[in-house]
Amino acid sequence: MSLIVHKYGGSSVADADRIKNVARRVIRAREQGNQVVVVVSAMGRTTDELIELARQVAEKPDARELDHLLSTGEVVSCTLLTMALRSMGQKAISLTGAQAGIRTDSTYSRARITGISPKRISRELEKGRIVVVAGFQGVNDELDITTLGRGGSDTTAVALAISLAADRCEIYTDVEGVFTTDPRLVPQARKLEEIGYEEMLEMASVGARVLHPRAVELGWAYGMPILVASSFNDDPGTLIHRGVPMEITNKVSGIAHDSDVAKVTVIGVPDRPGIASAIFEPLARANISVDTIVQNAGINRITDLTFTVAKSDLSKAMGVIKPVAESIGARDCASDTTLGKVSIVGAGMQTAPGYAARMFKTLSEEGINIELITTSEIRITCIIDGAKVPQAARALHRAFELETR
Ligand code: ADP
Ligand code: ASP
Ligand code: MG
Repeated sequence: MSLIVHKYGGSSVADADRIKNVARRVIRAREQGNQVVVVVSAMGRTTDELIELARQVAEKPDARELDHLLSTGEVVSCTLLTMALRSMGQKAISLTGAQAGIRTDSTYSRARITGISPKRISRELEKGRIVVVAGFQGVNDELDITTLGRGGSDTTAVALAISLAADRCEIYTDVEGVFTTDPRLVPQARKLEEIGYEEMLEMASVGARVLHPRAVELGWAYGMPILVASSFNDDPGTLIHRGVPMEITNKVSGIAHDSDVAKVTVIGVPDRPGIASAIFEPLARANISVDTIVQNAGINRITDLTFTVAKSDLSKAMGVIKPVAESIGARDCASDTTLGKVSIVGAGMQTAPGYAARMFKTLSEEGINIELITTSEIRITCIIDGAKVPQAARALHRAFELETR
């Protein structure tokens, strides 16, 4: 008998009818002879609404309380799905992240899974039950509830699949799989039948929201096959796995975009050893993840240092950076939240030249100015005017002929 983990995102469990639809899909997998563990996200926009509610009662909600509050969204959907399954005649039980044995560190709002003890889940499966687990949450050593970061139910699903030695992890969402770019932004986007972990990780890390980057990272580390498919139809979806043939990877596979970008510039920084560490160490200590970093060539031993963070981290980052800038004798500190980023990703880029030139030419033909550039071996990212991100994504999708392959 195979063991599979299904995960259903917020739009797939947005109301009672959709929850019943999910129940029927889970039952079908069970009736095909599988043991099934289901991970669910909170219904629809519940997590956003809970964050908004918290802000209405407190300007800066306490991190522990906020995680405790947000975890309730997934508890609602997992209990409702279990009730639906039981009323359809199935044996099923709901478990919170803690009951499912998911332990994390104490970094509220972006906790990392430190270990999973799946004994309870295994016991329930042995009793012939479908096990429905609340995604996005775990507990720290104090048994306080933590959450794994926005979109983190994907990570719950892949982590559980690994710890249960499941045959595969199936992520059901509101699109038919992983596309060459966001199909909501570029209607010509084409669904990929398969994609390797490395390319998927790059896509996810620079904004392809369809999968949480940490879920891909885990899947890659343990070789867990991940299927991304629609919860609304039976399209076969996209398989993320090892061994995607080179002919398929040897080119630009996709375009990712992200509007969650804020730029910070420390102006007039003395150009001497130790300055970068004086700036970035306090940011790391405050748990702020810094993305692109650019230091201008210094003139007269004075330089500017620019970096980007997520918009949600901007006010915290400025709070950390302002006193540091003052203490190192920098002239000023400025921020900009009108930016976005667009990236091309493809394993073939590491061996073939010319991709960067083609990307820059395409953007210039669209009259789009590039503010910052970063690259990895298989990715090129440009930070541009946020309002022009859709136009850039469409133009790059055309320029790299992604619709026709
Ligand atoms: P869920 O609630 O199921 O987790 P998400 O909203 O997190 O769903 O992710 C699905 C969304 O990801 C899609 O609706 C789509 O707009 C977006 N998306 C961004 N890039 C891509 C891509 N390359 N392929 C497919 N979907 C993408
Ligand atoms: N409900 C959480 C969120 O909206 C987790 C998830 O959906 O994966 O981010
Ligand atoms: Mg998601």
